[in-house]
Amino acid sequence: MMTKKIIHSLVTGIFGAAFSLAAVQSTAYAAVPASVQAQQQDRDFIRLKERFLSALWREDADTALWAGKFDSAANLAVPDQKSRTQRLAFDELWLGRFAKLDGASLSASQSTDLALINNYLASSRWYLTDFREFEWNPSLYNVAGGLDVILNTDYAPKAQRVRSLIKRLAQVPAYYQAARASIARPTAEHTRLAISQSAGALDVLAELEKAGKTVKLTAAERSLLSQRIAAASTAVQGYINWLGDLEKTLNPETARSFRIGKQLYEGKFTADIQSGYSAEQTFERAVKAKEEAHRNMARLADELWPKYMAGQAKPEDAVQKVAMVIDKLSENHVRREDVFKEIRQQIPILQDWIRDHDLVELDRNKPLIVRETPVYERGVSVASIEAPGPFRPHDKTYYNVTPLDSQTPEQAESTLREYNHWVMQILSIHEGIPGHYVQLQHANKSPSLIKSLFGNGSMVEGWAVYSERMMLESGYGGNTPEMWLMYYKWNLRTVCNTILDYSVHVLGMSEADAMQFLTRQAFQTDSEASGKWLRVQYTSVQLASYFSGYSELYEFREQRKKALGNKFNLKQFHEEFLSYGSAPVHIIKSLMTKG
Ligand code: ZN
Ligand code: ZN
Repeated sequence: MMTKKIIHSLVTGIFGAAFSLAAVQSTAYAAVPASVQAQQQDRDFIRLKERFLSALWREDADTALWAGKFDSAANLAVPDQKSRTQRLAFDELWLGRFAKLDGASLSASQSTDLALINNYLASSRWYLTDFREFEWNPSLYNVAGGLDVILNTDYAPKAQRVRSLIKRLAQVPAYYQAARASIARPTAEHTRLAISQSAGALDVLAELEKAGKTVKLTAAERSLLSQRIAAASTAVQGYINWLGDLEKTLNPETARSFRIGKQLYEGKFTADIQSGYSAEQTFERAVKAKEEAHRNMARLADELWPKYMAGQAKPEDAVQKVAMVIDKLSENHVRREDVFKEIRQQIPILQDWIRDHDLVELDRNKPLIVRETPVYERGVSVASIEAPGPFRPHDKTYYNVTPLDSQTPEQAESTLREYNHWVMQILSIHEGIPGHYVQLQHANKSPSLIKSLFGNGSMVEGWAVYSERMMLESGYGGNTPEMWLMYYKWNLRTVCNTILDYSVHVLGMSEADAMQFLTRQAFQTDSEASGKWLRVQYTSVQLASYFSGYSELYEFREQRKKALGNKFNLKQFHEEFLSYGSAPVHIIKSLMTKG
């Protein structure tokens, strides 16, 4: 039985992949008008795209690194005014070049690429001219990420990587000097974040020192490495001290607020989300979704009451009633030392489920590795996926989980109740299978480099959130009222994040009101709610991206179901949707419904 099952899923694996490629090609080519002129337009665009990308890799070494291109690993770009002026000129130059093309005469797939490139360049320009985060967010400056990715990515023999790092380290003092010169009016919140995250850079430097001892270097290289590590550590420590002094001078009355305000919020929403709706409309849609979730939860709480709450007086207030049932269910959670073990054993169960239920393809050659979140990345989320860029499709994908080590027993208990038996499974669906991990696998095999590179965050998060509901609809979790109630609680987080983000950044919501809102309306524990409050101070718009992408995707699937009737096939829908790479949902929708 077992063997048969495995062979069966291998066979569908092969056909599934063939199908998905065919779907992409037929869409790309069917949309090309028969005229030779249109094909010529595509060819011109493809050539310009290639020139643009090679210019981009020269201009933006950091983006190259994150995409998995290590050609300039030895050079650390110094974030000074000169580099920003140069970048702005680059954005203008290429926006001008692409503006000369007639997007309407390109094939569907190429015109999507053009839209993504234009949006990328316009966003980059907007960030430099309007958002100007480089002046007020000191946590933008951190050498840890680049050092870590070079040290720990297997793109070349380790000794060669360490040699590149020796060269790269030479620029670290200049890097932090430029950082100090760039910071004009920081927020207190981002200053404190930068101080704590910079400590992580010291950890990476210590790790590099250790790694240097395990590879073959000449005596001269060895001494250069330790000199430069010492100088880099001094520069990082100097930055931390400087920020510490700076923070003391910040007056809460006059310092820049972390709230970005309506104008920057709408601008950032346009730049980052690329939704068919405005920020304000999305906020209003989220308010409606919250009310609907509350109605469903009240019904589920009534259903569960006799099983869990027998003998207790049922409150009139629906929110209170739901909260009591959630509270009771939350007792079912793992011990703090078992969090990793639990997540590790969930992965194969989820893999089997999506194969057995024919939901989406999974590449079994690319294992998902559960690990502790590296220190310099901590401070924002509990769990995250770290996947290789499109140039490094064979690299490892990590499922980062932030350990509870630094939490007191009370804080840990609160976190564990939040990530209880049911929510822990939904978390693994979201981050791993078939959420981010599966989406990124598909994106990296997408034939469009542009769509892989300039991925749309809202589509990426939207898919992960969508996959939670899709899994439950397929029967994962046994269709129990417990699972559904916890699902709504979890989904409400996405919905309420959107409401929170807009309310805090645009409507001036206070910390006390935010905490009240999250714990009462979204049923979050204190530790989750205070984590969210930290996050909404450090980031903007990002918290709204989940609901935006999810609601657009779910709406689209329902429309598709209706339009195709019994010809609708869920796996086909997923394969086709994912085959376009991480493009905005409304662009994928127009590609899938065309012709
Ligand atoms: Zn407990
Ligand atoms: Zn996510």
